[in-house]
Amino acid sequence: PPSIRKINDKYDKVFVTGCLEPQVDGPRANAAFVVLARNKELEGVLQSIKSIERHFNRWFHYPYVFLNDGDFNSTFKEAILNHTSGSVEWGKIDSTMWGYPTWTDMAVAKEGIAKQGDAAIMYGGMESYHHMCRFYSGFFYKHELLQKYEWYWRLEPEIKYFCDITYDPFIHMEREKKTYGFTIAVKELKETVPNIFRYASAFKRNNNITSQGLWEMFTVKPDEKKSLPKDDPKYKKPLPEEILNTEPGAGSLPDISLDAMEGEEYNMCHFWSNFEIARLDWFRSKEYNDFFEMMDRSGGFWMERWGDAPIHSLAAGALLSPKDIHYFRDFGYRHTTIQHCPANAPARQLPRIPFLEKTTKDEKKRIEEDEYWATFDPPKENGVGCRCK
Ligand code: GDP
Ligand code: MN
Repeated sequence: PPSIRKINDKYDKVFVTGCLEPQVDGPRANAAFVVLARNKELEGVLQSIKSIERHFNRWFHYPYVFLNDGDFNSTFKEAILNHTSGSVEWGKIDSTMWGYPTWTDMAVAKEGIAKQGDAAIMYGGMESYHHMCRFYSGFFYKHELLQKYEWYWRLEPEIKYFCDITYDPFIHMEREKKTYGFTIAVKELKETVPNIFRYASAFKRNNNITSQGLWEMFTVKPDEKKSLPKDDPKYKKPLPEEILNTEPGAGSLPDISLDAMEGEEYNMCHFWSNFEIARLDWFRSKEYNDFFEMMDRSGGFWMERWGDAPIHSLAAGALLSPKDIHYFRDFGYRHTTIQHCPANAPARQLPRIPFLEKTTKDEKKRIEEDEYWATFDPPKENGVGCRCK
C-alpha cells in the first residue's frame, strides 16, 4: 500500500515549508477575517486579535468584519481599532439571520431548548447559542458586509496562534484550488447531535449524491451485519413531508428511520469550525444552501443543539472531495482547551489525515481513543511550523 505521506502528498501538501520573508507587497486575496462577538467578550477578542496580528496580519493587513446580533459599543470599537492593522467594518445581524424562522413553532422550539437545559447538554439550554450555531451554519456568508469577499478566515474570542504564518493562506488555497481549510478535527458530543446524521445522510441519498471520498471521514460502519442491502426499499423512502416543505409547524424534528443512513453511522468527527479558512462561494452555492435548508427545516437547531461545526463538516463530506480540503498542519492554534501545535504533537500521533488513510484495526482503536483527530503531525522535517512559541 502507498505510504501515508505519499497519499497525503497526492491530495494535500503543506503549502510552505519553513519561514519565509513575508511578502508585504505581494498579491492579496479578496478576503477578510470574520469575527462574531458580543461587547462583553472584548477581552477575549483582543487576545485573539493581538495573536493573529502578531503572527500574521502585521505583514498582510487583511480587513476585519465584526458581526453582532446587537450593537458594538464605542469601548469595544475603539479597543479593536487600536489593535488591528487592517480596515474594520462593523455589522449588525438582523432578525432574518438570527433567531427563529417564521415557520418555527416557537413553543415547541423553546420547550426543546429548555429540555436540553434540564438534561445538562452543553450549551443546550442557552437559546442564544442555538441562534449562533444556526447563524454560522446558514447565514454568515449572506451578510451584506461579506458580499464583496471571496474568502474568509474565522476568528473567535480566546484563541491563540503560536507560530508565525509567513505566507498568505488564501493565495495558496486559491492556487491549489482548495475550498475549505481546517487545523483541528475533534469528536462532537453525541448528545448535542443525536439525529444530525440521519438528516445529512437522507440529504445525500435524496439528492443522489455519491461520495467523492470525504464522506468516509465522517462515517463508520460498525457492524456490517447491521447494514441493510442496498436494494432494500426502505432506502428509497422519501423524506417526511414536514421536512420537505416550509409550512408553519415544521421544526419538531420528525423521525427519519435509521434506514436512511444506509447502514452507516456518524463517527462524530468534525472540523473544529472556530478556525476556518474557506471559500464563500461554496457556502453560497445552491448545493450547500439546499443542505442547510433541509437541516434547518428538520428543527434540529432547536430540538437538538446542532453546532455549525458538524453542519459544515457533513456538508463538506457530502459535497466536497478530499482534494478540496486543506489541513493547515503547520498552524499552531489553540481555542480555549484544545490546541494543535505542529512542533509538540505527541509522538504517538503519527502524521495522518483521517480521510485519506486506510486504517488498520489497531489504528482504528487508537483513533477511537483519540480525543484529537487531527492534532498530530510532527513537522520536524524541514522545519514546517514556523518559529513556534
Ligand atoms: P464555543 O467556542 O463553542 O464555546 O462558543 P463561543 O461562546 O466561543 O461562541 C462561538 C462564537 O459565537 C464566538 O465568536 C462568540 O463570540 C459568538 N457568539 C456566541 N453567542 C453569541 C451571541 O449571542 N451573540 C453574538 N453576537 N455572538 C455570539
Ligand atoms: Mn469559542
